[in-house]
Amino acid sequence: MQIRDRYAPSPTGLQHIGGIRTALFNYLFAKSRGGAFILRLEDTDRTRFDPAFVQNLYDTFEWLGINWDEGPNVGGSAGPYIQSERFELYKKYAAELIAKDKAYYCFCSAERLDRIREEREAAHSSETGYDRHCRNISPAEAAERVKAGEAYTIRLKIPLGEGTKFHDHLLGDIEWKNEDVNPDPVLLKSDGFPTYHLANIVDDHLMGITHVLRAQEWLSSTPLHVIMYAAFGWEHPEFCHLPMVMGQDGKKLSKRHGATSIDEFRRQGYIPEALLNYVALLGASYEEGKDIYTLDELAARFSLDKLNKAPAIFDYKKLEWYNGQYIRMKSDAELAELCLPYAIEAGLFSGGPGSAAPGPGAPSQAKGPSPEQRNTFTAAMPLIKERLVFLHEAAEKLGYLFSEPAVPGAAEFIPKKMDLPQAVGLLQQGRDLVKPLAEAADDAGAETFIKEWAEKNGLKLGDLMMPLRVAITGSRVSPPLFGSLRLLGAEKSLARVDRALAALT
Ligand code: GLU
Ligand code: ZN
Repeated sequence: MQIRDRYAPSPTGLQHIGGIRTALFNYLFAKSRGGAFILRLEDTDRTRFDPAFVQNLYDTFEWLGINWDEGPNVGGSAGPYIQSERFELYKKYAAELIAKDKAYYCFCSAERLDRIREEREAAHSSETGYDRHCRNISPAEAAERVKAGEAYTIRLKIPLGEGTKFHDHLLGDIEWKNEDVNPDPVLLKSDGFPTYHLANIVDDHLMGITHVLRAQEWLSSTPLHVIMYAAFGWEHPEFCHLPMVMGQDGKKLSKRHGATSIDEFRRQGYIPEALLNYVALLGASYEEGKDIYTLDELAARFSLDKLNKAPAIFDYKKLEWYNGQYIRMKSDAELAELCLPYAIEAGLFSGGPGSAAPGPGAPSQAKGPSPEQRNTFTAAMPLIKERLVFLHEAAEKLGYLFSEPAVPGAAEFIPKKMDLPQAVGLLQQGRDLVKPLAEAADDAGAETFIKEWAEKNGLKLGDLMMPLRVAITGSRVSPPLFGSLRLLGAEKSLARVDRALAALT
């Protein structure tokens, strides 16, 4: 049997961690078993639909590098894959259930349904949902009323006095009394639109879905779905409800915990592979002691048996750690390519960072780099790679290479236990070292040179380098000095030292 599974989002919001976790697990499960991963848009809720959310869905998965084998934008033999293009089908299947006496017409007005709810509330009744008022209208009478043009919905006739059993791959055997299932829910609304339940079941069946992997919040709908499959006389797919994703406080992950939409992570400078790698571990364990996995490695290892029952805790710090790891795995050229859009957006090549919010996407006046700036940017990657956590930080860290930093206040130049005249003296001595350091072949050469020089002159290396670093980079905390001198060149570096000396004396 070929495995077929699906991600079936409702485009009523931005893609978030929970959604991509569901998509990723379905993707990995299909790939691990040589199956097909399908995207289906469940856009039956037209009031909350927004085409921008569909675009966000496509953009997100393109950025993540996750493709579906069948879906709205790629086609496939079980399409269309957008529910709003399948409305006629759902009507047909709702009618089929009526014909089989597994569903019935309900003529209750919205006012009547509201009234029941209010009466129950007033009486503090524990009963909820529909009171099955129209369940016993004879089929003949119902047909008459429909023909006469009365408004109706179609409701499922839940068999009473029995139970519904199903097996969840993770949670085991589950049994519900049918009396506890949502009482005779609407399948087809009065405007002819299907509800989620009807469209979801019909599509999973017609699309040949063998496995439903979805968030645990859907578990309570599953007994209803199983009843519907039985009503149609269809076999139901296997179910596996994925553990919830929680914040550190044990509450469902939400905006209160931090970023949840993938757009936000992207703007913050996450690498897609890092995000995927971390999300793949939310609720699953693979190999002891191994943290870093490519998508292919994950697909090779994924199995439903490796899922955890316990909720997954989303740890932002761990995700940051992943991002750092992935940054360090990139070549200088790749990393520069990744950081570049953020650097442009931050204005790095048009007068210095900080003039705009970081992150690609938003329209701005920010300029791209000249070929020379582009080379410098790439050559500067080794200076920051070890410390970078987010891609946008490259712009802040490397600002001094692309525009003159302001000369800091005098106190910044003074090493511990020294005074200003001593700092100026050190900077004057450091000035003589600029040219040989900038022209040294590499860090090792520069280091040997300056160490020997410091020793000969009875100076501590740290004391010698500190004022020079502040003059060149504008800060005590900066990327490595030798690399900075090499990238700036002797001429520019000397000018900076002179500017600092002029300001200090
Ligand atoms: N459209 C539902 C959602 O938004 C699909 C749930 C399911 O996978 O059945 O998550
Ligand atoms: Zn009714």
